[in-house]
Amino acid sequence: MPATELEQIVNLCKRRGFVYPSAEIYGGFRSSYDYGPLGSLMLRNVKDAWVRTMVQERDDVVLIDAAILGPPAVFEASGHLANFSDPLVDCTVCNKRFREDQLDARDCPNKMKGCTFTEARAFNLMFQTHAGPVEGEGATVYMRPETAQGMFVNFANVLQTSRKKPPFGIAQVGKSFRNEITPGNFIFRTREFEQMEMEFFVPPAESSKWYEYWCNERLNWYIELGIPAELLRIRAHDAVELSHYSAGTSDIEFKFPWGWGELEGIAQRTNFDLNRHSEFSHQKLDYFDQATNERYVPYVVEPAAGANRTMAAFLLAAYDEDVVNDEPRTVLRLHPRLAPYKVAVLPLSKKDTLMPLSKQIFGQLSKLYMVDFDETQAIGRRYRRQDEIGTPFCVTVDFDSLEDQAVTIRERDTTTQERVPIAQLESVLQSKLGF
Ligand code: ATP
Repeated sequence: MPATELEQIVNLCKRRGFVYPSAEIYGGFRSSYDYGPLGSLMLRNVKDAWVRTMVQERDDVVLIDAAILGPPAVFEASGHLANFSDPLVDCTVCNKRFREDQLDARDCPNKMKGCTFTEARAFNLMFQTHAGPVEGEGATVYMRPETAQGMFVNFANVLQTSRKKPPFGIAQVGKSFRNEITPGNFIFRTREFEQMEMEFFVPPAESSKWYEYWCNERLNWYIELGIPAELLRIRAHDAVELSHYSAGTSDIEFKFPWGWGELEGIAQRTNFDLNRHSEFSHQKLDYFDQATNERYVPYVVEPAAGANRTMAAFLLAAYDEDVVNDEPRTVLRLHPRLAPYKVAVLPLSKKDTLMPLSKQIFGQLSKLYMVDFDETQAIGRRYRRQDEIGTPFCVTVDFDSLEDQAVTIRERDTTTQERVPIAQLESVLQSKLGF
Protein backbone atom coordinates (compact mmCIF):
# COMPACT_ATOMS: atom_id res chain seq x y z
CA MET A 1 0.00 0.00 0.00
CA PRO A 2 1.41 3.44 -0.90
CA ALA A 3 2.31 5.89 1.86
CA THR A 4 -0.69 7.59 3.44
CA GLU A 5 1.30 10.23 5.32
CA LEU A 6 3.93 12.53 3.87
CA GLU A 7 5.97 11.96 7.05
CA GLN A 8 6.55 8.32 6.05
CA ILE A 9 8.71 9.32 3.10
CA VAL A 10 10.13 12.47 4.70
CA ASN A 11 11.53 10.30 7.50
CA LEU A 12 12.78 7.61 5.15
CA CYS A 13 14.45 10.24 2.97
CA LYS A 14 16.28 11.73 5.94
CA ARG A 15 17.16 8.39 7.55
CA ARG A 16 18.55 6.79 4.41
CA GLY A 17 20.12 9.79 2.70
CA PHE A 18 17.70 10.70 -0.05
CA VAL A 19 16.88 14.29 0.92
CA TYR A 20 18.16 16.55 3.69
CA PRO A 21 16.98 20.01 4.74
CA SER A 22 19.36 22.48 3.11
CA ALA A 23 22.06 24.14 5.29
CA GLU A 24 20.87 22.00 8.21
CA ILE A 25 23.93 22.70 10.39
CA TYR A 26 22.87 26.37 10.33
CA GLY A 27 19.33 25.55 11.35
CA GLY A 28 18.08 24.91 7.82
CA PHE A 29 17.14 27.21 4.98
CA ARG A 30 13.39 27.36 4.72
CA SER A 31 11.87 25.07 2.11
CA SER A 32 15.18 24.26 0.47
CA TYR A 33 16.48 20.73 0.21
CA ASP A 34 19.72 19.00 -0.64
CA TYR A 35 19.70 15.63 -2.34
CA GLY A 36 21.99 13.11 -0.66
CA PRO A 37 23.81 10.05 -2.02
CA LEU A 38 20.58 8.16 -2.82
CA GLY A 39 18.31 11.10 -3.65
CA SER A 40 20.73 12.60 -6.15
CA LEU A 41 20.86 9.25 -7.95
CA MET A 42 17.09 8.89 -7.93
CA LEU A 43 16.48 12.47 -9.11
CA ARG A 44 18.90 11.84 -11.94
CA ASN A 45 17.06 8.62 -12.79
CA VAL A 46 13.75 10.50 -12.96
CA LYS A 47 15.27 13.03 -15.37
CA ASP A 48 17.03 10.29 -17.40
CA ALA A 49 13.77 8.33 -17.69
CA TRP A 50 12.10 11.47 -19.03
CA VAL A 51 14.89 12.13 -21.55
CA ARG A 52 14.81 8.49 -22.62
CA THR A 53 11.08 8.59 -23.38
CA MET A 54 10.84 12.15 -24.67
CA VAL A 55 14.07 12.39 -26.69
CA GLN A 56 16.02 9.15 -27.05
CA GLU A 57 13.15 6.91 -28.14
CA ARG A 58 11.76 9.47 -30.63
CA ASP A 59 13.12 10.87 -33.86
CA ASP A 60 11.15 14.12 -33.64
CA VAL A 61 12.46 15.70 -30.42
CA VAL A 62 15.90 17.21 -29.70
CA LEU A 63 17.44 18.26 -26.38
CA ILE A 64 18.99 21.61 -25.44
CA ASP A 65 20.53 23.08 -22.28
CA ALA A 66 19.99 26.85 -22.13
CA ALA A 67 21.24 29.50 -19.70
CA ILE A 68 19.52 30.02 -16.34
CA LEU A 69 20.17 33.78 -16.23
CA GLY A 70 18.36 35.90 -18.80
CA PRO A 71 18.08 39.55 -19.78
CA PRO A 72 14.83 41.47 -19.06
CA ALA A 73 13.95 41.50 -22.79
CA VAL A 74 13.28 37.75 -22.77
CA PHE A 75 10.85 37.99 -19.88
CA GLU A 76 9.25 41.15 -21.17
CA ALA A 77 8.48 39.33 -24.41
CA SER A 78 7.33 36.15 -22.66
CA GLY A 79 4.92 38.13 -20.48
CA HIS A 80 6.55 37.03 -17.23
CA LEU A 81 7.49 40.57 -16.15
CA ALA A 82 3.88 41.71 -16.48
CA ASN A 83 1.91 38.59 -15.66
CA PHE A 84 3.91 36.02 -13.72
CA SER A 85 2.51 36.82 -10.33
CA ASP A 86 0.43 35.27 -7.59
CA PRO A 87 -2.21 37.19 -5.60
CA LEU A 88 -0.61 37.93 -2.21
CA VAL A 89 -2.77 38.68 0.85
CA ASP A 90 -1.70 39.44 4.43
CA CYS A 91 -3.66 38.35 7.47
CA THR A 92 -4.13 41.51 9.54
CA VAL A 93 -4.28 39.56 12.82
CA CYS A 94 -1.51 36.96 12.60
CA ASN A 95 0.53 38.84 9.95
CA LYS A 96 1.04 35.70 7.90
CA ARG A 97 1.07 35.83 4.10
CA PHE A 98 -0.99 33.67 1.81
CA ARG A 99 -1.82 33.10 -1.81
CA GLU A 100 -5.38 34.30 -2.16
CA ASP A 101 -6.20 31.52 -4.64
CA GLN A 102 -5.14 28.93 -2.08
CA LEU A 103 -7.18 30.29 0.84
CA ASP A 104 -10.24 28.26 1.56
CA ALA A 105 -13.24 30.61 1.62
CA ARG A 106 -10.96 33.36 3.01
CA ASP A 107 -10.48 31.27 6.11
CA CYS A 108 -7.03 31.82 7.63
CA PRO A 109 -5.34 28.41 7.63
CA ASN A 110 -3.88 29.28 11.03
CA LYS A 111 -7.42 29.30 12.40
CA MET A 112 -6.88 32.55 14.33
CA LYS A 113 -10.12 34.06 15.49
CA GLY A 114 -11.25 37.15 13.63
CA CYS A 115 -8.65 37.03 10.87
CA THR A 116 -9.16 39.55 8.09
CA PHE A 117 -7.16 39.93 4.94
CA THR A 118 -5.70 42.81 3.01
CA GLU A 119 -6.69 43.33 -0.61
CA ALA A 120 -4.74 40.98 -2.89
CA ARG A 121 -1.75 42.46 -4.66
CA ALA A 122 0.15 40.93 -7.55
CA PHE A 123 3.46 39.53 -6.34
CA ASN A 124 5.91 38.75 -9.15
CA LEU A 125 7.49 35.35 -8.65
CA MET A 126 10.70 35.96 -10.57
CA PHE A 127 14.03 36.23 -8.79
CA GLN A 128 15.87 39.31 -9.90
CA THR A 129 19.60 39.82 -9.53
CA HIS A 130 22.43 41.90 -10.99
CA ALA A 131 25.14 40.92 -13.41
CA GLY A 132 28.51 42.58 -12.97
CA PRO A 133 29.75 45.02 -10.35
CA VAL A 134 27.35 47.92 -10.96
CA GLU A 135 23.79 47.71 -9.72
CA GLY A 136 21.71 49.61 -12.20
CA GLU A 137 19.02 49.30 -14.80
CA GLY A 138 21.30 47.84 -17.46
CA ALA A 139 22.66 45.17 -15.12
CA THR A 140 19.34 43.62 -14.08
CA VAL A 141 19.01 39.94 -14.91
CA TYR A 142 16.42 37.32 -14.01
CA MET A 143 16.69 33.70 -13.02
CA ARG A 144 14.41 31.78 -15.32
CA PRO A 145 11.04 30.83 -13.78
CA GLU A 146 10.58 28.06 -16.38
CA THR A 147 12.90 26.39 -18.86
CA ALA A 148 10.47 26.98 -21.74
CA GLN A 149 11.77 30.37 -22.88
CA GLY A 150 15.12 28.73 -23.70
CA MET A 151 13.34 26.66 -26.34
CA PHE A 152 11.52 29.65 -27.87
CA VAL A 153 14.54 31.93 -28.11
CA ASN A 154 16.52 29.09 -29.72
CA PHE A 155 13.74 28.06 -32.12
CA ALA A 156 15.47 29.45 -35.22
CA ASN A 157 18.89 28.10 -34.18
CA VAL A 158 17.51 24.60 -33.66
CA LEU A 159 15.43 24.68 -36.82
CA GLN A 160 18.52 25.59 -38.86
CA THR A 161 20.95 23.19 -37.25
CA SER A 162 18.87 20.10 -36.47
CA ARG A 163 17.14 19.62 -39.84
CA LYS A 164 13.83 19.04 -38.03
CA LYS A 165 10.53 20.38 -39.30
CA PRO A 166 7.11 20.65 -37.64
CA PRO A 167 5.80 18.61 -36.01
CA PHE A 168 8.96 18.46 -33.89
CA GLY A 169 9.94 19.21 -30.31
CA ILE A 170 12.70 20.89 -28.32
CA ALA A 171 13.17 19.49 -24.84
CA GLN A 172 15.10 20.68 -21.82
CA VAL A 173 15.76 19.57 -18.26
CA GLY A 174 17.07 22.04 -15.76
CA LYS A 175 16.67 24.34 -12.78
CA SER A 176 13.99 26.99 -12.53
CA PHE A 177 13.40 29.51 -9.77
CA ARG A 178 10.21 31.02 -8.37
CA ASN A 179 9.86 33.20 -5.33
CA GLU A 180 6.89 31.17 -4.10
CA ILE A 181 4.73 32.85 -1.45
CA THR A 182 3.90 29.57 0.25
CA PRO A 183 6.52 26.90 -0.42
CA GLY A 184 5.94 23.65 1.43
CA ASN A 185 4.91 20.02 1.50
CA PHE A 186 8.52 18.82 1.45
CA ILE A 187 9.90 18.83 -2.13
CA PHE A 188 6.46 19.47 -3.69
CA ARG A 189 6.83 23.26 -3.77
CA THR A 190 10.25 24.87 -3.35
CA ARG A 191 11.76 28.10 -4.65
CA GLU A 192 14.45 26.28 -6.58
CA PHE A 193 13.41 23.20 -8.51
CA GLU A 194 14.02 21.23 -11.67
CA GLN A 195 11.72 21.10 -14.64
CA MET A 196 11.43 18.70 -17.56
CA GLU A 197 9.76 20.59 -20.38
CA MET A 198 9.22 20.06 -24.08
CA GLU A 199 7.88 22.51 -26.64
CA PHE A 200 6.29 20.64 -29.54
CA PHE A 201 5.97 22.86 -32.63
CA VAL A 202 3.12 21.91 -34.95
CA PRO A 203 1.15 23.24 -37.93
CA PRO A 204 -1.65 25.36 -36.37
CA ALA A 205 -4.44 23.08 -37.59
CA GLU A 206 -2.85 20.09 -35.81
CA SER A 207 -2.63 21.71 -32.38
CA SER A 208 -5.68 20.02 -30.80
CA LYS A 209 -4.71 16.61 -32.15
CA TRP A 210 -1.23 16.84 -30.64
CA TYR A 211 -2.62 18.17 -27.36
CA GLU A 212 -4.75 15.01 -26.99
CA TYR A 213 -1.77 12.91 -28.01
CA TRP A 214 0.57 14.42 -25.41
CA CYS A 215 -2.01 14.22 -22.61
CA ASN A 216 -2.22 10.45 -23.21
CA GLU A 217 1.51 9.91 -23.70
CA ARG A 218 2.42 11.77 -20.55
CA LEU A 219 -0.17 10.07 -18.36
CA ASN A 220 1.12 6.69 -19.54
CA TRP A 221 4.69 7.64 -18.69
CA TYR A 222 3.85 7.79 -14.96
CA ILE A 223 1.89 4.54 -15.13
CA GLU A 224 4.68 2.70 -16.95
CA LEU A 225 7.13 3.82 -14.28
CA GLY A 226 4.99 2.29 -11.57
CA ILE A 227 2.42 4.79 -10.30
CA PRO A 228 -0.95 2.99 -10.01
CA ALA A 229 -3.52 4.52 -12.41
CA GLU A 230 -5.98 5.15 -9.56
CA LEU A 231 -3.50 7.58 -7.97
CA LEU A 232 -3.41 9.68 -11.17
CA ARG A 233 -5.94 11.84 -12.96
CA ILE A 234 -6.07 14.40 -15.75
CA ARG A 235 -7.87 17.64 -14.93
CA ALA A 236 -8.68 20.29 -17.53
CA HIS A 237 -8.25 23.91 -16.39
CA ASP A 238 -11.34 26.07 -16.42
CA ALA A 239 -11.19 29.47 -18.13
CA VAL A 240 -10.15 31.52 -15.04
CA GLU A 241 -7.23 29.21 -14.28
CA LEU A 242 -5.63 29.45 -17.72
CA SER A 243 -2.21 31.13 -18.00
CA HIS A 244 -1.86 34.26 -20.11
CA TYR A 245 -0.53 32.26 -23.08
CA SER A 246 -2.80 29.23 -22.94
CA ALA A 247 -5.72 28.18 -25.16
CA GLY A 248 -6.24 25.04 -23.10
CA THR A 249 -4.34 23.27 -20.33
CA SER A 250 -4.74 19.96 -18.55
CA ASP A 251 -2.88 18.96 -15.42
CA ILE A 252 -1.75 15.47 -14.61
CA GLU A 253 -2.41 15.19 -10.90
CA PHE A 254 -1.26 12.71 -8.28
CA LYS A 255 -3.19 11.82 -5.16
CA PHE A 256 -0.81 13.18 -2.52
CA PRO A 257 -1.55 12.48 1.16
CA TRP A 258 -3.04 16.02 1.41
CA GLY A 259 -5.12 15.73 -1.78
CA TRP A 260 -4.73 15.94 -5.55
CA GLY A 261 -1.66 17.94 -6.65
CA GLU A 262 -0.19 18.83 -10.04
CA LEU A 263 2.76 16.84 -11.39
CA GLU A 264 2.68 18.21 -14.89
CA GLY A 265 0.76 20.68 -17.04
CA ILE A 266 0.09 20.08 -20.73
CA ALA A 267 -0.68 23.40 -22.40
CA GLN A 268 -1.70 24.59 -25.84
CA ARG A 269 0.46 27.71 -25.99
CA THR A 270 -0.70 28.60 -29.53
CA ASN A 271 1.87 30.79 -31.36
CA PHE A 272 1.91 33.30 -28.51
CA ASP A 273 5.56 32.83 -27.52
CA LEU A 274 7.09 32.75 -31.01
CA ASN A 275 5.05 35.79 -32.06
CA ARG A 276 6.04 37.76 -28.98
CA HIS A 277 9.74 36.92 -29.28
CA SER A 278 9.60 37.74 -32.96
CA GLU A 279 7.98 41.10 -32.20
CA PHE A 280 10.45 42.02 -29.44
CA SER A 281 13.62 40.72 -31.12
CA HIS A 282 12.66 41.79 -34.66
CA GLN A 283 13.70 38.33 -35.89
CA LYS A 284 11.61 36.01 -38.01
CA LEU A 285 10.52 33.00 -35.97
CA ASP A 286 8.45 31.02 -38.42
CA TYR A 287 8.66 28.03 -40.72
CA PHE A 288 8.49 27.80 -44.48
CA ASP A 289 6.86 24.58 -45.60
CA GLN A 290 8.31 23.78 -49.00
CA ALA A 291 5.72 21.09 -49.68
CA THR A 292 2.78 23.50 -49.47
CA ASN A 293 4.69 26.70 -50.24
CA GLU A 294 3.32 28.19 -47.03
CA ARG A 295 4.99 30.22 -44.32
CA TYR A 296 3.50 29.98 -40.84
CA VAL A 297 4.31 30.48 -37.16
CA PRO A 298 4.00 27.04 -35.56
CA TYR A 299 1.63 26.42 -32.68
CA VAL A 300 3.06 24.86 -29.55
CA VAL A 301 1.90 22.03 -27.31
CA GLU A 302 3.91 21.91 -24.11
CA PRO A 303 4.14 19.06 -21.61
CA ALA A 304 5.84 20.67 -18.56
CA ALA A 305 6.72 18.47 -15.61
CA GLY A 306 8.66 18.94 -12.37
CA ALA A 307 11.42 16.47 -11.53
CA ASN A 308 11.33 16.96 -7.75
CA ARG A 309 7.56 16.80 -7.42
CA THR A 310 7.52 13.74 -9.61
CA MET A 311 10.21 12.12 -7.49
CA ALA A 312 8.05 12.69 -4.38
CA ALA A 313 5.11 11.02 -6.15
CA PHE A 314 7.24 8.03 -7.20
CA LEU A 315 8.46 7.65 -3.61
CA LEU A 316 4.97 7.88 -2.11
CA ALA A 317 3.53 5.40 -4.61
CA ALA A 318 6.41 2.93 -4.14
CA TYR A 319 6.36 3.01 -0.34
CA ASP A 320 5.10 -0.18 1.28
CA GLU A 321 5.18 -1.94 4.61
CA ASP A 322 4.79 -5.70 4.82
CA VAL A 323 5.84 -8.63 6.98
CA VAL A 324 8.63 -11.04 6.02
CA ASN A 325 9.43 -14.03 8.26
CA ASP A 326 7.26 -12.52 11.02
CA GLU A 327 9.23 -9.29 10.90
CA PRO A 328 7.80 -6.00 9.64
CA ARG A 329 9.75 -4.42 6.81
CA THR A 330 9.60 -1.17 4.86
CA VAL A 331 10.12 -1.59 1.16
CA LEU A 332 10.30 0.90 -1.71
CA ARG A 333 8.85 -0.90 -4.71
CA LEU A 334 10.49 1.48 -7.15
CA HIS A 335 10.64 0.76 -10.87
CA PRO A 336 14.21 -0.49 -11.58
CA ARG A 337 14.87 2.52 -13.81
CA LEU A 338 14.17 4.87 -10.88
CA ALA A 339 15.85 2.90 -8.08
CA PRO A 340 19.10 4.57 -6.95
CA TYR A 341 20.94 1.25 -7.11
CA LYS A 342 19.91 -1.54 -9.45
CA VAL A 343 21.90 -4.20 -7.62
CA ALA A 344 23.71 -4.56 -4.28
CA VAL A 345 26.68 -6.91 -4.00
CA LEU A 346 26.79 -8.43 -0.51
CA PRO A 347 29.64 -10.72 0.60
CA LEU A 348 28.11 -13.02 3.21
CA SER A 349 30.98 -12.44 5.60
CA LYS A 350 33.56 -9.71 6.04
CA LYS A 351 36.27 -12.37 5.89
CA ASP A 352 39.04 -11.59 3.44
CA THR A 353 38.46 -14.81 1.53
CA LEU A 354 35.20 -13.52 0.01
CA MET A 355 36.46 -10.03 -0.85
CA PRO A 356 38.35 -10.59 -4.11
CA LEU A 357 35.44 -12.39 -5.79
CA SER A 358 32.89 -9.89 -4.40
CA LYS A 359 34.92 -6.91 -5.60
CA GLN A 360 35.38 -8.56 -8.97
CA ILE A 361 31.59 -8.93 -9.35
CA PHE A 362 31.10 -5.34 -8.22
CA GLY A 363 33.64 -4.16 -10.77
CA GLN A 364 31.92 -6.09 -13.53
CA LEU A 365 28.34 -4.96 -12.76
CA SER A 366 29.19 -1.36 -11.91
CA LYS A 367 30.29 -0.85 -15.51
CA LEU A 368 26.65 -1.46 -16.48
CA TYR A 369 24.74 0.47 -13.79
CA MET A 370 24.86 1.86 -10.24
CA VAL A 371 25.73 -0.92 -7.80
CA ASP A 372 25.98 -0.73 -4.02
CA PHE A 373 28.57 -2.73 -2.08
CA ASP A 374 27.89 -3.54 1.55
CA GLU A 375 29.86 -5.91 3.76
CA THR A 376 28.68 -4.67 7.17
CA GLN A 377 26.17 -6.26 9.59
CA ALA A 378 24.18 -9.49 9.40
CA ILE A 379 22.90 -10.41 5.95
CA GLY A 380 19.23 -10.09 6.99
CA ARG A 381 19.73 -6.49 8.07
CA ARG A 382 21.57 -5.72 4.86
CA TYR A 383 18.63 -7.11 2.83
CA ARG A 384 16.26 -4.88 4.82
CA ARG A 385 18.36 -1.83 4.14
CA GLN A 386 18.37 -2.53 0.41
CA ASP A 387 14.59 -3.14 0.50
CA GLU A 388 14.10 0.21 2.18
CA ILE A 389 16.13 2.10 -0.43
CA GLY A 390 14.43 0.29 -3.30
CA THR A 391 17.31 -1.85 -4.67
CA PRO A 392 15.56 -4.41 -6.91
CA PHE A 393 18.21 -7.18 -6.56
CA CYS A 394 20.87 -8.28 -4.11
CA VAL A 395 23.72 -10.54 -5.20
CA THR A 396 25.10 -12.52 -2.29
CA VAL A 397 28.57 -14.03 -2.45
CA ASP A 398 29.04 -16.90 0.04
CA PHE A 399 31.70 -19.50 0.79
CA ASP A 400 30.20 -21.96 -1.70
CA SER A 401 30.67 -19.31 -4.40
CA LEU A 402 34.41 -19.93 -4.23
CA GLU A 403 33.80 -23.59 -5.10
CA ASP A 404 30.81 -23.55 -7.46
CA GLN A 405 31.40 -20.13 -9.09
CA ALA A 406 27.76 -19.26 -8.44
CA VAL A 407 25.99 -16.56 -6.40
CA THR A 408 22.52 -16.00 -4.99
CA ILE A 409 20.20 -13.39 -6.47
CA ARG A 410 17.55 -12.16 -4.05
CA GLU A 411 14.53 -10.21 -5.29
CA ARG A 412 13.31 -7.18 -3.37
CA ASP A 413 9.59 -7.57 -4.05
CA THR A 414 9.15 -11.31 -3.46
CA THR A 415 12.29 -11.93 -1.31
CA THR A 416 12.77 -15.15 -3.34
CA GLN A 417 16.31 -16.38 -3.91
CA GLU A 418 17.86 -18.08 -6.89
CA ARG A 419 21.33 -19.56 -7.43
CA VAL A 420 22.97 -18.32 -10.62
CA PRO A 421 26.38 -19.15 -12.19
CA ILE A 422 28.61 -16.04 -12.12
CA ALA A 423 29.19 -16.50 -15.84
CA GLN A 424 25.47 -15.89 -16.43
CA LEU A 425 24.98 -13.15 -13.83
CA GLU A 426 24.98 -10.23 -16.26
CA SER A 427 22.45 -11.75 -18.64
CA VAL A 428 20.16 -13.00 -15.84
CA LEU A 429 20.12 -9.56 -14.20
CA GLN A 430 19.56 -7.91 -17.55
CA SER A 431 16.45 -9.97 -18.20
CA LYS A 432 15.15 -9.40 -14.66
CA LEU A 433 15.76 -5.63 -14.74
CA GLY A 434 14.48 -5.28 -18.29
CA PHE A 435 17.58 -3.37 -19.49
P1 ATP B 1 1.49 25.25 -9.25
O1 ATP B 1 0.08 25.55 -9.74
O2 ATP B 1 1.62 24.03 -8.38
O3 ATP B 1 2.20 26.44 -8.71
P2 ATP B 1 2.28 25.68 -11.95
O4 ATP B 1 0.99 25.36 -12.68
O5 ATP B 1 2.64 27.09 -11.73
O6 ATP B 1 2.32 24.86 -10.57
P3 ATP B 1 3.92 25.09 -14.21
O7 ATP B 1 4.26 26.49 -14.48
O8 ATP B 1 2.93 24.41 -15.11
O9 ATP B 1 3.46 24.93 -12.69
O10 ATP B 1 5.26 24.25 -14.15
C1 ATP B 1 5.36 22.93 -14.62
C2 ATP B 1 5.74 21.97 -13.52
O11 ATP B 1 6.87 22.44 -12.79
C3 ATP B 1 4.68 21.77 -12.44
O12 ATP B 1 3.71 20.85 -12.87
C4 ATP B 1 5.48 21.24 -11.29
O13 ATP B 1 5.72 19.84 -11.42
C5 ATP B 1 6.80 21.98 -11.45
N1 ATP B 1 6.83 23.10 -10.51
C6 ATP B 1 6.31 24.34 -10.68
N2 ATP B 1 6.53 25.11 -9.60
C7 ATP B 1 7.23 24.34 -8.73
C8 ATP B 1 7.76 24.57 -7.41
N3 ATP B 1 7.66 25.76 -6.82
N4 ATP B 1 8.42 23.55 -6.81
C9 ATP B 1 8.54 22.34 -7.41
N5 ATP B 1 8.06 22.08 -8.63
C10 ATP B 1 7.41 23.06 -9.30
